[in-house]
Amino acid sequence: MDKKEEFLQKAQKAIDWIARYYENIERYPVKSQVSPGDIYQRLPDRMPEQGEEIDQMIRDLDADLLEGITHWQSPRFFAYFPANTSVPSMIAEMITAAIGAQCMKWETSPAAAELEEKVMNWLRLAIGLPADFEGVIQDSASTASLVALLTAREKFTGYQVNEWGLYQQKPFRIYASSEAHSSIERAVKAAGLGRVNLVKIEVDGDYRMKTDHLEQAIDQDQKEGYRPMAVVATLGTTGSTAVDPLSAIGRVTRQYGLWLHVDAAYAGSALILPQYRWMIDGIEYVDSFVFNPHKWLFTNFDASAYYVRDARALRATFQLIPEYLKTRTDEHVNNYSDWTIPLGRRFRALKLWFVLRYYGLEGLQQKIRFHLDLAGQFKHWVADHQHFELLAPVTLAVVAFRYHPGGSLSEEHLNRLNEQLMHRINQAGRIYLTHTKLNGKYTLRMVIGQTHVEKRHIEEAWQEITNQAGQLNN
Ligand SMILES: *Cc1c(COP(=O)(O)O)cnc(C)c1O
Repeated sequence: MDKKEEFLQKAQKAIDWIARYYENIERYPVKSQVSPGDIYQRLPDRMPEQGEEIDQMIRDLDADLLEGITHWQSPRFFAYFPANTSVPSMIAEMITAAIGAQCMKWETSPAAAELEEKVMNWLRLAIGLPADFEGVIQDSASTASLVALLTAREKFTGYQVNEWGLYQQKPFRIYASSEAHSSIERAVKAAGLGRVNLVKIEVDGDYRMKTDHLEQAIDQDQKEGYRPMAVVATLGTTGSTAVDPLSAIGRVTRQYGLWLHVDAAYAGSALILPQYRWMIDGIEYVDSFVFNPHKWLFTNFDASAYYVRDARALRATFQLIPEYLKTRTDEHVNNYSDWTIPLGRRFRALKLWFVLRYYGLEGLQQKIRFHLDLAGQFKHWVADHQHFELLAPVTLAVVAFRYHPGGSLSEEHLNRLNEQLMHRINQAGRIYLTHTKLNGKYTLRMVIGQTHVEKRHIEEAWQEITNQAGQLNN
């Protein structure tokens, strides 16, 4: 059998598996029901001495691993934020794997660098960022936020920390709301800034940063000899998708000369709809901006879109060209490994190119609008039910709610009830939800954004939630 025949035959088996997987995906418990160690025990302790057939691996995938998979691509997945894929994205990932290029520099695959520049421009136009932003694909929003803080640190100190370390510096201060994502705290730790120097600003009743508190905190820090450095505004918090007031925050950062980073990991995708552009009122104050096409834009993890106003500062923070990486084109092209932490880079632009072309802007807008409509319907079901209540405004396609069977139950009791409810629902496996705490209240999050979700799925989800709640011992 020649190589081409062999590939076609084997790849066909994988394609068949994928088609069957999607055909059956709604039959599996959405959240894997295995216990710790279950899967590990099924697997041999050593690799095989002799090579095995792909057929065998596909059989064992079904027999040994499938039970331990949580089905993120099930339309009954309403947990966390989505991590979607789609037909064009899957196909592009396959081709990316086949090409197998390491796209660290322009010369290591010029098409990868130039396609990246192009699709990042397409995305920038699609979400309405101004033309003076330049984009680069990062692996995750967590990395992008770390990169933002490192760049802010270097620009702020004239690139002195890169050179000498932080030893000579008075403590810097970073500000984010108390609802900001945990990746911000991690970035502050990893950047050597010290967790205690992340100042968490109080939020208002709708979980948005209180700008007057921000200003007071900066002012006080300055008086006490700290060095206020950066503010991270969140568009679409993880708990309740609250949107921090960007222009009010921007006026403060401008006044005090601070870096303004925007974490729009989930919500950024909604900016493709003109009616959500209000979220970036104040974009003129922003230095860096990240959102995740790998969440709500039907593109496989990982693909995070990071935009900066001052790409030179970004490169100056990370660039370092040892002799073996010098090329004759360095002056004339984008070598994207200079724009981020790792040297090595996957060819991630290809899947974005496939997805953006396959759906087109209108197709993407239609899908996001559909999810927003479904969330609007779900919100009404919750609001109209006498034993459920909304716990936050529904800004995007996440409904934050809880079961409240009436009477004068303590907050503790309600927390316990809702925790039980969530575990019952997830154990039953028909849908999958996760929770957060808002204002001390155990909050269920219904996140509607899976690529293939339809109206019937949210109808069945609501049925399941109300049924399970009815079976609780209050
Ligand atoms: C999901 C999320 C992140 C983390 O995204 P990764 O790409 O997984 O690092 C950060 N911030 C917010 C607001 C998020 O929703």
